[in-house]
Amino acid sequence: MADEHLFRADRVCGVVAARTAAEAWRQIREALRYTATIELRLDWLTGAGERRKLLGSLKKHRRNRQVSFIATCRRQNAGGKFHGSMSDQLSLLRSAIAAGCPWVDVEMETVESFPAFALDLYTARARRILSFHDFRGMPHAAELAGIVRRMENLCANRGFDALKIAVTCNSLGKGLQLLETAREKRNVIAVPMGETCAPLRILALREGSALSYAPVEEATAPGQIRLAELCRLYRSGRLTSATCVYGVIGNPIVHSLSPILHNAGFRARKIDAVYLPFRVADLSDFLGAIPRLRIGGFSVTLPHKQKLLRFLDGCDSLAKPIGAVNTVAVRANEKLFGYNTDSLGVLRALQGKLELRGHRVLILGAGGAARAVAFTLAREGARIFICSRTLSRSRRLARDVHGQALKRGTLRRGSFDLIVNATPVGMHPRENESPIGPPEINCALAFDLIYRPPRTKFLRLAASKGIRTVSGVEMFLAQGIAQWEIWTGLRAPVNAMRSAVLAALRGEKSELSK
Ligand code: NAP
Repeated sequence: MADEHLFRADRVCGVVAARTAAEAWRQIREALRYTATIELRLDWLTGAGERRKLLGSLKKHRRNRQVSFIATCRRQNAGGKFHGSMSDQLSLLRSAIAAGCPWVDVEMETVESFPAFALDLYTARARRILSFHDFRGMPHAAELAGIVRRMENLCANRGFDALKIAVTCNSLGKGLQLLETAREKRNVIAVPMGETCAPLRILALREGSALSYAPVEEATAPGQIRLAELCRLYRSGRLTSATCVYGVIGNPIVHSLSPILHNAGFRARKIDAVYLPFRVADLSDFLGAIPRLRIGGFSVTLPHKQKLLRFLDGCDSLAKPIGAVNTVAVRANEKLFGYNTDSLGVLRALQGKLELRGHRVLILGAGGAARAVAFTLAREGARIFICSRTLSRSRRLARDVHGQALKRGTLRRGSFDLIVNATPVGMHPRENESPIGPPEINCALAFDLIYRPPRTKFLRLAASKGIRTVSGVEMFLAQGIAQWEIWTGLRAPVNAMRSAVLAALRGEKSELSK
């Protein structure tokens, strides 16, 4: 069956899925920046004319002989867009082979519907991947083993070179079970589909899959990560069993800047480690995957910051009273130790800008971040005032830090050394909102915990009154850098990490203003 170098070029495969031939070419050129293995999704092209155009031009481009093109024409019931019959599907694959595609992907249903000689007539001149898709969910273990056996037999009897098994997995446990089918076999491609398993797509090659797929642009299956991100941010093709894994857990998690921050640090210090975003709905599923993925530590964000406390074997002195952790280090024997680096983040963001002892600090909001700010600044000797939407929550937090709860109506008459916005009001996409208006912003320094956008309406209003401001970006960087140092035991490359985050925020801003 397969040889040592099944995919002679790269093992990360860029998926070109475009409606027109011209658009497909644009995507091919983009994909070639990262990989020489490219899947052409012929079923995405909007008709026979566009398919002819693409295959015709493929034939003419001699340099494409260096590229491992995989021609795929996925039928609708296998998750694709092709309406034609199985014979039409095979005819199209035959044309793709004639145009110079060295590989074709043939669905198991198609293979089982045609006798060997008929299938060979269409596809024998190419190397062939036998594929199976199930979007409904993971079959039971015995059923999965049966499917793999059936595919391996077909591969052996029909002269296929590789098999691909793509299944929707709604837990990391199931995704790992699927990847297990590829372990120690050089010709099995395992694809755990679905948002929960997106990190497993990044780790697929490390976990034994012969190939991993990433769209150049539009996702063709749930949980896919774009090719540029997979290769540049996560270095997916270079991860090995020696690579240390870190990550962030939350729900939602897709907009987190933490992967950019931490991976920039690993790159700058040339550390063989990767930091991944885990969308976690079920904490026990994630905790169960820690030993299997050999996770060394993770950041924690909403909604798990409080709940995670009860799973820890120990935590730092502030995490308990605050009632939340944002960092976990996995120690020997999978023991979990929690930290609250938000606290350090607040102090570093305010360092040199304000003397805290004896000064009056108004905190807007009484949620998790407000608690971290209140305990940290109270410990530094500040006098804490809390104003939040729900008075009972303000009172509880004020009592915990020996401070005072204030009603919104009193703010116009008050005056503070520092006002901290610890509510999400003003965060993207509601950028034109401020938690309080100009007459209520009476202070020497204004600090917004929000970092998207870096300069919020609250900070702009404060600045227009001549008040000094501190952006949430400073806290985000400081809390993340502290996490990085806890996990690695090294001094963080602060400049590289800061530049990566600021560049991403600038990129987002220009994207939004288009
Ligand atoms: P949280 O636990 O959900 O608490 C949010 C607080 O804001 C609650 O007191 C809530 O009041 C209040 N609130 C929500 N919507 C409001 C509205 N429309 N008007 C007035 N008050 C409102 O959230 P969190 O974890 O504390 O996070 C708060 C903010 O801090 C977020 O924007 C987050 O991104 C930011 N943050 C930044 C960093 C950083 O590193 N820069 C770190 C952590 C958090 P109720 O209790 O009445 O709902």
